[in-house]
Amino acid sequence: MSLKGKTAVVTGGGRGIGRAVCLELATQGADVVLCYAGSEATARQTAAACEAMGVRALTVRCDVSSPQQVARLMETALQEFGRIDILVNNAGITRDGLLMSMKEEDFDQVIAANLKGTFLCMKAVSRQMVKQRYGRIVNLSSVVGLRGNAGQVNYAASKAGVVGMTKSAAKELAGRGVTVNAVAPGFIDTDMTAAMPEKARTATLASIPMGKMGAAADVAKAVAFFAGDSAAYITGQVLCVDGGMAM
Ligand code: NAP
Repeated sequence: MSLKGKTAVVTGGGRGIGRAVCLELATQGADVVLCYAGSEATARQTAAACEAMGVRALTVRCDVSSPQQVARLMETALQEFGRIDILVNNAGITRDGLLMSMKEEDFDQVIAANLKGTFLCMKAVSRQMVKQRYGRIVNLSSVVGLRGNAGQVNYAASKAGVVGMTKSAAKELAGRGVTVNAVAPGFIDTDMTAAMPEKARTATLASIPMGKMGAAADVAKAVAFFAGDSAAYITGQVLCVDGGMAM
């Protein structure tokens, strides 16, 4: 129960990797505020699973690309719990397509959710974390942001941007007791990857030295590491959870 008494905000916490993060943080004793974009029932189920572990859990509808909704999310978390110790920027989308045919709106939507959303959430909690002289921010990047991937110019740009923002924010906040790190998953078994065409799934699997997909819980363990005291002297880092993909 190393996170007992801590409050975590997890964006997109209802399903996939976000759900696993909520459960892992709750297992370690943290109260959880999880936001969802559209899947209210799923988010409530995740919150109930957290509460079953003896922590408090709250669901808030919030589109992370909206400054007003992000402000409301963080205000709600502060009203309910009095502090925000951990922020996990997990919400993310894909709108895949080849560069030559990619629609501008598909580029803009991915940047808005993945990159601007991460910026807005970090900005919204940074003042409070600096005031507390304590904070742990963990951003979800991707091996695609480090290596690139055909068909994902928009997604790769957003996830590479997350790495740059992570390192910049880490430098700004290091002296104030706030760490900022990123986890870069490889090929993880969630709705996001289930939606990939079979050919792309087979090709991706073949590029993983460990020869298998990861589980959401594998990523959640790495997020919880950065969120906990074991990582107190680590900031500005990117940890790949990818079965060796990005080596
Ligand atoms: P997922 O199963 O598709 O779930 C995405 C989550 O993000 C959902 O909870 C969704 O909420 C939320 N979301 C999407 N747009 C949002 C918005 N504008 N505002 C608030 N919430 C929003 O995805 P996942 O596989 O768990 O991925 C989680 C994170 O890991 C993403 O950032 C993704 O890019 C990254 N990642 C995943 C993989 C992988 O292999 N799965 C690999 C590398 C990186 P609703 O349910 O309400 O729609």
